[in-house]
Amino acid sequence: MELVCIECGKVRSVERPFPMGCECGGLTEVRHDFRGADAEKLKALFDARLMFRTGPYASGVWRYKELIDPVLDEAHIVTRGEGNTGLYDCGPAARHAGVRRVWLKAQGENPSGSFKDNGMTAAVSRGVAAGCRAVACASTGNTSSSLAMYAARAGLRCVVLVPPGGVASGKLAQTYAYGAEVYALEGGYDAGVRLLNRYGASLGLYVCNSVNPFRIEGQKSMIIEAAHQLGWSLPDWVVLPGGALSNASAVGKGLLEMKAIGLIDRVPRIAVVQAEGASPFHRMIASGGDTLVPEPAPRTAASAIRIGNPPSWRKAARVLRETNGVTCAVSDDEIMAAKRVIDRVGIGCEPAAAAGLAGLRKLAEDGVIGRDETALVVLTGHLLKDPDAIRPLETEDARRPIPPEELLARLAARTPARA
Ligand SMILES: *Cc1c(COP(=O)(O)O)cnc(C)c1O
Ligand SMILES: [Zn+2]
Repeated sequence: MELVCIECGKVRSVERPFPMGCECGGLTEVRHDFRGADAEKLKALFDARLMFRTGPYASGVWRYKELIDPVLDEAHIVTRGEGNTGLYDCGPAARHAGVRRVWLKAQGENPSGSFKDNGMTAAVSRGVAAGCRAVACASTGNTSSSLAMYAARAGLRCVVLVPPGGVASGKLAQTYAYGAEVYALEGGYDAGVRLLNRYGASLGLYVCNSVNPFRIEGQKSMIIEAAHQLGWSLPDWVVLPGGALSNASAVGKGLLEMKAIGLIDRVPRIAVVQAEGASPFHRMIASGGDTLVPEPAPRTAASAIRIGNPPSWRKAARVLRETNGVTCAVSDDEIMAAKRVIDRVGIGCEPAAAAGLAGLRKLAEDGVIGRDETALVVLTGHLLKDPDAIRPLETEDARRPIPPEELLARLAARTPARA
């Protein structure tokens, strides 16, 4: 296992995580040596670990340690039992999208309420292994909730840069509660990523944005776990929202590695869905370009994907090429309509997480995804992350106190007559 620059190919030891990127400015990624891997033995090992109720192997990330970080010393693992999220066969979602079958992978069931935990446990564990004392991230909210949680578990100082006024209230609440230092930075998320990339290492801060290659390794576990849940075969498509594009990069890497090892026979196609007002990656792919033009003023109600300059776009572009993937962009109205479907089946998600289902519907309408095809839609974050997005559903009846007699009369009038 080693770190490789995706631009110049320079190789580095995983024991030296400072600085995160390569001198040439390129992103680094973890390269594994899976030549000796035996798919059947791995499946048996992963099955056996389903018995664990405590300790690192009870985690839905570390269950797959051989594929994530095989050489990490177990003593350095910082875990909250992350992963282990539900996979729901959902008829109403399939009908909304107009495809044959949809599974919802509810990553909001993670301990801090988003898929960021899958990656963060891997990143923070590596930071602990390297002796780091302080961690940092720029965040639209969920990265900071997750990092603050693991930093608190490991007793590390945690510095968080957030866009002024741009973070959903549930996410900020978690970040404060776990004891992080929170700074609202002029210029928002994109400025925060730039600042930490340039100065993080010199300030002694171990950077846990998606430029951290170990986060990508941890985030692969989502698709590994889903394959495990479905008996090592996956639907035709994996559909997910795209902000910084770390998740798309991770899912693609995980799929290709599982195929190379022989854990799965067929690699699903990936669809990355962005919000119309924050869709620089979709615009690049749709125009056939190979250079991302940042969106200077990203806009969408789905704050988790309000990102104008996605750091991982080169990794995501490669993943799309290698998996014959597609992109699309959806409006906030389409996102909120999909969210309503997901909420009303009793699962629920935050707005950004609903972008996947909205995109699936659009891609089926456009004939990109066939009506007879199947899809796994990744729900990236929990319903309670963004209470303001639900507030419009509050009714006059819920606000205004009703005298008991009036309530009884009204309920009686609505109750079907007894036989
Ligand atoms: C971070 C996040 C995203 C975007 O994921 P990327 O890996 O940044 O593309 C989408 N939805 C939610 C809820 C998130 O927290
Ligand atoms: Zn390089």
